[in-house]
Amino acid sequence: MTTSETGLFELPQTYRDLQAQARELAVSMRDIAARADESSSTDPDVRKRLAASGLTELAVPAQWGGRFEKVDSLAVTIVREQLAAESAHLDSMFVMQGIGSYGLAVAGSDAVRDRWLPKVATLDAMAALGLTEPHVGSDLKALTTTVVADGDELVLNGHKSFITNGGDADFYSILAKEGDGYSLVLVPADTPGVSTHRPHQIIAPHVLSDVVLENVRVPADHRIGEAGKGFGLVLATLATFRVSVAGASVGMAEAALRLALEHANNRQQFGTSLSRLGSVPEHLASCWTDIEAARSLTYRAAAASARDPRANLHLSSMAKVSATEMCGRVVDRCVQIMGRFGITRDTAIERLYRESRPMRIYEGSTEVIFDSLAKQLIKNGI
Ligand SMILES: Cc1cc2nc3c(=O)[nH]c(=O)nc-3n(C[C@H](O)[C@H](O)[C@H](O)COP(=O)(O)OP(=O)(O)OC[C@H]3O[C@@H](n4cnc5c(N)ncnc54)[C@H](O)[C@@H]3O)c2cc1C
Repeated sequence: MTTSETGLFELPQTYRDLQAQARELAVSMRDIAARADESSSTDPDVRKRLAASGLTELAVPAQWGGRFEKVDSLAVTIVREQLAAESAHLDSMFVMQGIGSYGLAVAGSDAVRDRWLPKVATLDAMAALGLTEPHVGSDLKALTTTVVADGDELVLNGHKSFITNGGDADFYSILAKEGDGYSLVLVPADTPGVSTHRPHQIIAPHVLSDVVLENVRVPADHRIGEAGKGFGLVLATLATFRVSVAGASVGMAEAALRLALEHANNRQQFGTSLSRLGSVPEHLASCWTDIEAARSLTYRAAAASARDPRANLHLSSMAKVSATEMCGRVVDRCVQIMGRFGITRDTAIERLYRESRPMRIYEGSTEVIFDSLAKQLIKNGI
């Protein structure tokens, strides 16, 4: 595909088709999005419609029913932009299929991949990734969950916390300490010794659970990749999916701006529309500018990540920080433009206000990402 065929900064047709399909699905959720986004368990109707769309095929490589040879960061990012604009629940359900199964797709044993990945592609099985623990967040290397080999089995013990899809997932990719290293292990949810409970809920409800592992035994081929090499698989997962958080942020920010614009155009104060009063038009224009700037970096980083996720992690990290922080600012400004109607409960803008907040914390908080970018910059230069 040459740049004259697409325009240097235009998406190729394959991605525009995906964008249109994701938009159609997202808009079709409008009748249930508010209900689903307030739910702390998987909404069956959202699941059914997402499965019917076939978009979860983007979560796995072509060999197991995927649409691209490898999981494609740009495709995932573009789809999330559309889904998150309408429903955080839908967006999370879509992306977790990839995040929870990526390590397996890259390094799992053939038998385990063949068993699970085709079901991930069709959403017949839900995936989850278990890293965080009650006392371990950003400092992941401090985790205390263990895995020990015992004959032809692996035995896991530990407690994972704040796990998306927890309680509803069919399997967990669990990061656990093994000797001096860390291993990633696939644990089917119905394995004896696995229990889940939901002690926490956040300001924008999310399918979140703690996962407790007590003498959980799985066959040795459920270790994903080599013993002690699990951290690399987690990094590879982040490198592929981090930029997609930026896509979701751009979608949410644009949804907020649409609401604020419509409100400002329609509401009359001081004998004219709000959109002509004082700093309101300037705020609207600056939101628009911020969104377009973040989208440009996001698409560029996602395209680079689709080529080589690890080599371009710095760009994905910049896009994630830039777009999530932008989204926080823009949604807040849109709420302000809408006055009391911006903070009224059970409205789309109030939902966006709550849903945009966690994105600055998970998949690398802003501060942790800046810390690692700074180290890279100071060591290697630009
Ligand atoms: C909606 C949601 C879904 C999630 N889903 C999952 C999931 O599916 N699987 C999973 O394993 N986890 C999940 N998590 C957990 C998430 O990964 C953690 O919240 C994240 O790693 C941050 O850890 P923490 O919240 O414990 O914050 P902490 O690590 O305690 O950090 C607190 C604050 O200190 C700052 N800070 C920490 N370290 C540094 C540093 N070195 N330099 C500068 N500042 C620092 C952080 O930026 C942050 O502002 C989810 C969280 C949320 C909110």
